[in-house]
Parts: sequence; structure tokens; C-alpha cells
Amino acid sequence: MHVSIVGTGYVGLVTGLCLAEQGHRVACVDVDTAKIARLADGVLPLYEPGLDELLDRHLGTRFFPTTDLEKAVKESELTMITVGTPIEDGAISLKFIESAADAIGRALGHKPDYHVVVVKSTVVPGTTEDCVGPALERASGKKVGVDIGLGMNPEFLREGEAVEDFQNPDRIVLGAVDARSHEWMVRLYAPFHDAQKILTNTRTAEMIKYASNALLATLISFSNEIGNLCSAAPDVDVVDVLGAVHLDKRISPLTPDRGRITPSITAYLRAGCGFGGSCFPKDVRALIRWGQDHQRPVRLLTSVLETNEAQHGEVVALLKKHFPSLAGIRVSVLGLAFKAGTDDIRESPALRVIPALVREGAQVIACDPVAIPAVRLALDEKNIQYAQSLTEAIEGVDAIVLLTAWPEFLQLPDLLEDLTEAPVVIDGRRAFEKARLRRYEGIGLRSTAVTKPGFDREGVEAEI
Ligand code: NAD
Repeated sequence: MHVSIVGTGYVGLVTGLCLAEQGHRVACVDVDTAKIARLADGVLPLYEPGLDELLDRHLGTRFFPTTDLEKAVKESELTMITVGTPIEDGAISLKFIESAADAIGRALGHKPDYHVVVVKSTVVPGTTEDCVGPALERASGKKVGVDIGLGMNPEFLREGEAVEDFQNPDRIVLGAVDARSHEWMVRLYAPFHDAQKILTNTRTAEMIKYASNALLATLISFSNEIGNLCSAAPDVDVVDVLGAVHLDKRISPLTPDRGRITPSITAYLRAGCGFGGSCFPKDVRALIRWGQDHQRPVRLLTSVLETNEAQHGEVVALLKKHFPSLAGIRVSVLGLAFKAGTDDIRESPALRVIPALVREGAQVIACDPVAIPAVRLALDEKNIQYAQSLTEAIEGVDAIVLLTAWPEFLQLPDLLEDLTEAPVVIDGRRAFEKARLRRYEGIGLRSTAVTKPGFDREGVEAEI
């Protein structure tokens, strides 16, 4: 099939290259001319395992980056919209969706054949039919359901595992306004014959994406709340508590030979320093606002966000138990990306923790295998040094804070073993074996430091 994709970010690029891998001819469009020029030269604008091989294999043969939207749309049979849907003033902004739909509509005005437009961006229920459809009709002078097919196909890829997730989908949700649009979307995904396809209307497809992300965000905030409660009691470690919760057979079913199936959802039932990234915080916010606009109370998800927004304060509070004043303290921050495997720092815990430490006078040494360039641009702080390797990052520091569990950071206990004066380690991901570190603090574990009389934990959290 000939496909055009409007918006060549994480989703557009991964979708484009993976569809090319399946044999489709794909033009990926973006308004960012520099990004398209680099892509045309074979340079990826983002880090994602496996994407470089796909670009090498398909650039110029089945994959064509371009800024010429009209040509890309006219030469294709189906167009996907994968532009950003950011939050503005607490609600989803559809400005990129509207302008993409308008440009696609204008191109379709010059195309005689039937064409299908599919929204892949995450949008609140009703957007495809009430916003994208009318914009296409206005700009093209054509009719949705007659000359133009319209659909909604949410994307479930996880950054860091995006290529793998796209190639091996757990479900393909296809919302459409009519049977003909469904037929074309099924044709697009025909190479993924093993994947379960859910054919539904566009509003249900839009809601499935929000429900999926809201569930995962809820599990994380639930785990963090349990962790914070565990840390209030002596000898209760959230790792033991949630580890045993995972063994509930309704979560990890027993197999007939008394083995276990450990579902990957247990990865979301772990305490840490909070969720970030381009999706969970944004999507939960958008859903809360959408519910409020529709006079539906959104109590649980409001608490999920509040819990998350306070969670990075737990990390700083643990550090302050050892150093009530952070002035002049050298702190190594390990992990800047919102999770391992990506250079995406959007809403990363590091972007909250580092400024909080710097404000209190700490000298921060920030380390990440791939996300340093992004953080240099995002944080204009003088008191941050950057370290390329773990060894460099921990040299002569008073404390180490782990925020992203990159596998390369897990050798920390080996590196600290022979030091005469061990730095304090604050494990924001509960990734280390606590017995292997002399001065260890972890989320969901009662602090080993003696609380100084008059030390006000609430006050610490309120400041950051
Ligand atoms: P992104 O910001 O990485 O990319 C969006 C791209 O669209 C940018 O390159 C931008 O220049 C381009 N763009 C904007 N307006 C355009 C226009 N009129 N014409 C052509 N290009 C235009 O965004 P993303 O992370 O890929 O997310 C895209 C959508 O997919 C969002 O709705 C997001 O919520 C959703 N989503 C993202 C992920 C993820 O992991 N990143 C996963 C699932 C769904």
C-alpha cells in the first residue's frame, strides 16, 4: 500500500519505518525541514533501538522523508496523522491536529480518488469525527464517508521498545466511520496477521488509548503510595510487599506444573520516583479535563497525578535526611531520560529533582548514556556538570541518586565496594541490592539516617 504519514516524531517515524519493513511504500512528512534533511541523509533525530537498521534498509527504496505534504498525500492511498497533542492550559491542544487535517484536506481537494485518513495521535473522544472530519471536508470540498474514509488507530508503543512493540503488536485497534474505511485499515495491517484486531467506532478507539495509559499510571501511583506508607514503618520494605502482591495468582497465574507466569504488568507495580515521559502525565491530564468538561467527576485520576507530582520529593527528602543542608554537597544524578532505553526527557523525574538540588546549593553531576544533550538544552543551570560514564559521575561525590535504571548503572555496588568513604546512595528505582551498599536509602524503605530533631519532612517536600 502507498502510505503517507504526517508528523515524523517518535510515533510517525517508528510507524513509517515499521510499515516500510512490512512492504508498504511510506512517505513521512514533517514541517521541521532540518529533521527531514537529516533523515534524508540517513541520520535519525531520536534514539530508539533498532530504528537505525530500518532506516539503513529502507531509505530511498520504501521510505521517503519529505516536507512536501501535498505530493505525499496525492501519491498515497492512506494518510496517518501522527502530530503532537500537547497540553495547554490544562487541556489537550488540537492545534497541530487541526493544521495537519487542513493541509491534508487541501491536498485531497486535488486528488480524484478515494482516500482514507487515519488519526494515530492520542486524542480525546470525539476528536476524529468532530474536529478532523469537518476540517478535511472544509479544506477539500469533499464528503467524509463518500470520497474520504476516516479512522482512528491509537498507538501503544513504549519508547525504548518502540520497534519491537510495533512489529509485535498485542492488539491493533481500528476505529472507523464506516465499513469501507475499516476495510482499508485492515488492508494496511494485513501483514500483522497474528495480531488481534479490534474493529470499533472512532470514539471507542480514542477512549481505549486513554483507558490503557490511565490504568498503567494508576498502578504506578498506587505502588508509590504503598511504598511511602511502607517507609513509615520499621522493617517493612516495599520491594518485599509488592513482590508478594505480584504472586497473587490473579496477577501471576500458576501453571499446571506449579510454575508461574509473570506478566509484564508487574513492572508497573513497583515503587519508584514517579512516572514521566510524553504520554502518561499528558494523557491523564487530558482525560481529567475532558471528564470535567463533560460534567463527570474524575477523582481517582486526579489523585494519581497528585501522587506522581509529589513523588520526586521523596527522593530529595531521603537525601536531606543525611544532608539537612545541601549547600556545597556534590551529588551524582544517575539517569536523565524518563526511563531506560530512550533519550526522551519529557516530564522526566530528573527535570524536577536536579533543579530542586541546585536551588538548595548542591553541585550536581548528571549522567546518562544518551540523554545529556537533551538535558543541556532543557536546563539552563550553572551548577550542573555532565559525566559521560558512571566512573566519572561518582568520583569524589557525597551522594548518588539513581533516577533511571539504565543497566550500565547497576554495576554501582561493585564500583563502591573498595572505597574507604562510601557516598550515600538514594535508590529512586529500587534497582540495587540494598545489602551491597553501605549507606543505602530507597523509596519505600524506612530511612537509615537518624532524623534530626525539628527536621520537617513536610517542609522539605513543600519547597521543591
Ligand atoms: P513528537 O513531538 O515526537 O512528533 C510530532 C511531530 O509532528 C514533530 O516532528 C512535528 O514537527 C510534527 N508536526 C507538527 N505539525 C505538523 C504538521 N502540520 N505537518 C507535519 N508535521 C507536523 O510527538 P510523538 O511523541 O511522536 O507523539 C505524537 C502523538 O502520538 C501524540 O498524540 C502522542 O500522545 C501519541 N503517542 C506517543 C507515544 C510516544 O511514546 N511518544 C506513544 C503513543 C502515542
